[in-house]
Amino acid sequence: MAPGISSEDVAGLRDAVTGAVFLRDDEGLADEAACFNTAIVHDPDVVVGARTTADVVEAVRFAGIHSLPVFVQATGHGAFAPITVGLLITTGRMTGVSIDRKTSVASIGAGTRWGEVVEAASRYGLAPITGSSTNVGAIGYTLGGGLGPLSRTYGFTADWVRGFTLVTADGRVVRATAEENEDLFWALRGGKGGLGVVVEMELELVPLTHVYGGGLFFDTAHIERAMRAWVDWVHTVPDTVTSSVALVRFPPIEEVPEALRGKFVLHLRYAFVGDDEEGERLLGPLRAAAPTFLDLVGEMPTSDIGSIHNDADQPGPAWDRGMQLEDIDQDFVTEFLARAGARADVPFIAIEIRHIGGAASEEQHGGTAVGGRQAPFTLVMIGVPVPELFETAMPQKSDYIVAGILPWIATETNINFLGHVASTQQFASAWPSDAFDRLAETRTAWDPDKLFAYGP
Ligand SMILES: Cc1cc2nc3c(=O)[nH]c(=O)nc-3n(C[C@H](O)[C@H](O)[C@H](O)COP(=O)(O)OP(=O)(O)OC[C@H]3O[C@@H](n4cnc5c(N)ncnc54)[C@H](O)[C@@H]3O)c2cc1C
Repeated sequence: MAPGISSEDVAGLRDAVTGAVFLRDDEGLADEAACFNTAIVHDPDVVVGARTTADVVEAVRFAGIHSLPVFVQATGHGAFAPITVGLLITTGRMTGVSIDRKTSVASIGAGTRWGEVVEAASRYGLAPITGSSTNVGAIGYTLGGGLGPLSRTYGFTADWVRGFTLVTADGRVVRATAEENEDLFWALRGGKGGLGVVVEMELELVPLTHVYGGGLFFDTAHIERAMRAWVDWVHTVPDTVTSSVALVRFPPIEEVPEALRGKFVLHLRYAFVGDDEEGERLLGPLRAAAPTFLDLVGEMPTSDIGSIHNDADQPGPAWDRGMQLEDIDQDFVTEFLARAGARADVPFIAIEIRHIGGAASEEQHGGTAVGGRQAPFTLVMIGVPVPELFETAMPQKSDYIVAGILPWIATETNINFLGHVASTQQFASAWPSDAFDRLAETRTAWDPDKLFAYGP
């Protein structure tokens, strides 16, 4: 237990909340605080598994009285360092989606995963602008901006937020919209943390039932031709096309489908918003660029959007590092494949480059705190699940790849794509410098005592 906290205090908290309260060493705390990345193990002084907004208020007030820094976790997909002090509020019990059919706005509970939103929206012929994985939490993802398989057409997910309800450091329940507490509304769309606990988010959905999308797989011998074709092709496509390529080294294990087991491939992910014939026509040059050994692109319901990237959905140890890129060209491909291609010995299970720009580069009226709008590509390296390599081998190998592609790396990036945060300077690069400074001012205005711990 944290120094200065009496068992009576905690007993009072237990009585006051309808959810669960765990102290360090209590059975159940480890499961409650578990992260998607199992290499990170949280061990805070107190965990409050909130069930209601009133529980969150109680937890925040308790933390304030006892000077415990407050952390928030929904699914644990975004954990980047172990929490060893303070009070962690988990929101996994606060799930649910309700949709106003007149406005197409979904009210989304704090702990809701994208999958639940996608399913609820699809019943009305609607879709949220999600990320690549529907297993990720809707709120944590959107607070960072949110770039997914439809981003070039519809922008960042944060651009579709119409309001937040949150508990602030003084224990009040506050609204943040374009008309109310505008500074908070600006900051919550991209600023990510240190502002409060969001208990509900209102997100406008788009009328969309189908896309023409899926994945093309190119075997090792054809990776270079396919990637060179993709790099030229992205400069020709309209904003209705969002795509990415990933160099994937599939491990030779049973969990991987036989067709992919043990293979080193280029996985091209494609989504087109419009009619199928046009989607097929636009993809034609890539289908013709090199032989594919798996072609999974076709008409798909938006409820299957997660199958485009097919991200891992089981927790495990993970290491990743991300950044954004300025415009890429054939020289980039040469340098990148020399350091990360078939002949390179790299401990990364996947290195993905996403093409963004389009609607994602257009700032909203009144602005948002979203970082990385202007750089047209993201790059993320995801390590093999071998924790012994996380400390030295992966940072060194990622440095080696970065050194080769340095001329294309953008100075600014986005917090959701930063991955392993090695320094304060790297953290700051997740926003334009003026937004970073304005975020610091907004956090100070709403949380002068820095109750909500955020940053490295
Ligand atoms: C497999 C995978 C795929 C991903 N794909 C994408 C993608 O396509 N696009 C993209 O943009 N990002 C992507 N991400 C990154 C992801 O958006 C972030 O990691 C995000 O923070 C996850 O949110 P979460 O709530 O699921 O995770 P958590 O670890 O539970 O939360 C992460 C952080 O979000 C904040 N937070 C969460 N809930 C609240 C709340 N109610 N109130 C206040 N703060 C809160 C806290 O700061 C918390 O530390 C991916 C991550 C993974 C692991």
